[in-house]
Amino acid sequence: MSQSALDHTPNATAIQIEKMSKWFGTFQVLCDIDLTVSHGERIVICGPSGSGKSTLIRCMNALEEHQDGKIVVDGTVLSSDLKNINKVRSEVGMVFQHFNLFPHLTILENCTLAPMWVRKTPKQEAREIAMHFLEKVKIPEQADKYPGQLSGGQQQRVAIARSLCMKPRIMLFDEPTSALDPEMISEVLDTMIQLAEDGMTMLCVTHEMGFARKVADRVIFMDQGHIIEQNKPEEFFNNPKSERTKLFLSQIL
Ligand code: ADP
Ligand code: MG
Repeated sequence: MSQSALDHTPNATAIQIEKMSKWFGTFQVLCDIDLTVSHGERIVICGPSGSGKSTLIRCMNALEEHQDGKIVVDGTVLSSDLKNINKVRSEVGMVFQHFNLFPHLTILENCTLAPMWVRKTPKQEAREIAMHFLEKVKIPEQADKYPGQLSGGQQQRVAIARSLCMKPRIMLFDEPTSALDPEMISEVLDTMIQLAEDGMTMLCVTHEMGFARKVADRVIFMDQGHIIEQNKPEEFFNNPKSERTKLFLSQIL
C-alpha cells in the first residue's frame, strides 16, 4: 500500500475539540463543545433526536464546517484549508445510517475504489486489502455481488469493510444499526465489537445501550447542542447526574 498518505507524526490525542460552536443560519446547533478523545478510546454518543449528534461527528471530518472554536484531528487542525481536510478525511472513516454503497459497483469494487483513486494503491493490492477486510466482516463470499443483492446487515458490514480499506486511524459511526431490521442489528454490532477489540479509535452515535455497556470507555449524552454529561458506562447508566440524562434513559431503556 502507498505509505505517503499514512505519513504523520503519531499523536496520542486522536481528536481535540475546544470551545467549538456551529450554526445553521441563525440556529446554533452546537454550543461550546469541548471534547478530547485519545487514540484507542471507544466513545458512544447518545441523546434525543435533533440534539446535534450527527452534526458533531460530521464536523470531525469536515463534512460540516464549524464557525467557532477549534477541531484538531490526529495533530491536523481542521480549517478551510483543503489540504488539511483531505488529510483528515484520509485518516477518518465514516459509516452512516444508510450504507451509501455504490449500487452499480460490485462489493469488491465498492471496497477498492477509494484505495485505488485516492491512495493510488495498485489494483491487485487493493483487491487483496479488500478481501482481507471482507473476511474480517465475514462476507468474503459476497465479493462479486451487487449491493442490492445483499441484506441490510450485510450491506452495512460492507460499508464498514469499505471504510477499513482506507486504513483509517479513527472510525466514526452515525447510527449504523438504526435503519436495520432487528434480526440484522447484532451482526453489525458484532463487527463493531470486533473492531473495538482490535483497538480502533471509535466514536459511535448509537442508542444501542448494550453495545455502549460492552465496549464504550465513555458515554457522552448530548441535548440541544450541548454535551450535558459524560462518564464511564457503568456510572452513566447507574448514576446519571443530570435530570435530562435521567429522562432520556428512562425513555430508551
Ligand atoms: P441528531 O443527529 O442528534 O438527531 P442533527 O445533528 O442531525 O441531530 O441535527 C441537529 C439540529 O440541526 C436539528 O434541529 C436539525 O434540524 C438541524 N440541522 C441538521 N442539519 C441541518 C442543515 N443542513 N441545515 C439546517 N439545520 C440542520
Ligand atoms: Mg443524527
